[in-house]
Amino acid sequence: MAEIFDPKPVVKGGFVIEDRILKLAAKAEAACESGFLEIDRTARFNGEKVLKAFIDNRVSEDCMNGSSGYGYGDKGRDVLDAVFAQAMGAEDALVRHTFVSGTHALTCALFGILRAGDTMVSLTGRPYDTLEEVIGLRGSGNGSLADFGVKYDQVDLQPDGTPDVAEIFKKVKGAKCAYIQRSRGYSLRPTLTVDKIAEIIKAAKGSNPDIIVIVDNCYGEFTEKTEPIAAGADLIVGSLIKNPGGGLAHTGGYIAGGKKYVEQCAYRLTCVGMGKEVGCSLNENKAMYQGLFFAPDVVANALKTALFTANIMTMLGFECYPAPTEKRGDIITAVLMKNPDNLTAFIQGIQKGSPVDSFVAPEAWDMPGYDSQVIMAAGAFNNGASIELSADAPLREPYAAYVQGGLTYTTGRMGILLALQEMFDRKCLKLFEL
Ligand SMILES: *Cc1c(COP(=O)(O)O)cnc(C)c1O
Repeated sequence: MAEIFDPKPVVKGGFVIEDRILKLAAKAEAACESGFLEIDRTARFNGEKVLKAFIDNRVSEDCMNGSSGYGYGDKGRDVLDAVFAQAMGAEDALVRHTFVSGTHALTCALFGILRAGDTMVSLTGRPYDTLEEVIGLRGSGNGSLADFGVKYDQVDLQPDGTPDVAEIFKKVKGAKCAYIQRSRGYSLRPTLTVDKIAEIIKAAKGSNPDIIVIVDNCYGEFTEKTEPIAAGADLIVGSLIKNPGGGLAHTGGYIAGGKKYVEQCAYRLTCVGMGKEVGCSLNENKAMYQGLFFAPDVVANALKTALFTANIMTMLGFECYPAPTEKRGDIITAVLMKNPDNLTAFIQGIQKGSPVDSFVAPEAWDMPGYDSQVIMAAGAFNNGASIELSADAPLREPYAAYVQGGLTYTTGRMGILLALQEMFDRKCLKLFEL
């Protein structure tokens, strides 16, 4: 097959990368060719969908202006909710820079929907680490859902990491809310595609038609042509410093879905009775609009970076989840680094290839909300933004690095090559057989 890309860094006086790594990069890139075409097709579809939502909702110049104080009649905020809802295929949305993170938006959704005595059932095993305290799986007396009398149950994943549909059918009986996590989080189980989510929701609603399904949509937005609302989810929730913020939103999160559920969440975020009608946007509207506008293409760049990562790491003998040929439902690639030395070299190498803070060396630390030490490379324009090239890993078996993001494929690819160079320099790579 013809080489379609020039493997050499083109900047004079530019990066010095071991020749064998560059040769391998060209091989990995050639293996990406059909995958890249598919990614471009999805981006085009989603980009058109987003543009249509801007036009249909008559986004105007004054929507970019901010508001202060109570934020009554903040047009930019209200129109953004409508645009976002349409792009997600939802009836309504709550898009706010005042969500401090994805976990906060998810917390708001859970506390918004659940009442004392209700049961929440996780259909996809143990939820993401930071949700454990929110649910009340790590002690009591702190205002968790459990403290407020909300019961928790879960359907464990099957040994192969896929949802247990038969068990879901049984366990959702009598529950108020079903919780689905689309992305893998810090685990190696497969990310759920929208088709798979549809299958689970069908089982859950087949058994309990009144159940309210909440999907943690983090990292999934715009990776496929539809979102989980099309699969029957009542609410989807995510972070704006991941996919739908397009790398431009400074902070924030969203909740989208059925109008009455979104309103309940808004009551929780602000006050009962006030809901969506208050909350000034300061000067954040423009970044959120522009970020959403860019998001399908930025996600495409992140997906290309992910596919390249999976191909080159697999060629180097590191197992990747998903494998290069698997269908993706998010932008994450988990790479099994085998030991702490490889892991640390790789993460620190990613940091070296970041546009911001490239000169610092990240170390493992006790991050709030996580129960083992985590090492993170995050040289991002927005602190902690993981739509930007980033890699993080809990320092525990099986020493998996979770790699995600890449605002542009050009810089994402180079970030990965610099990480490999760092591993090579520290004798963590065996390249002689290539
Ligand atoms: C990122 C993420 C979250 C939210 O994390 P924050 O850091 O609080 O934004 C929740 N669930 C999953 C699966 C995630 O990947």
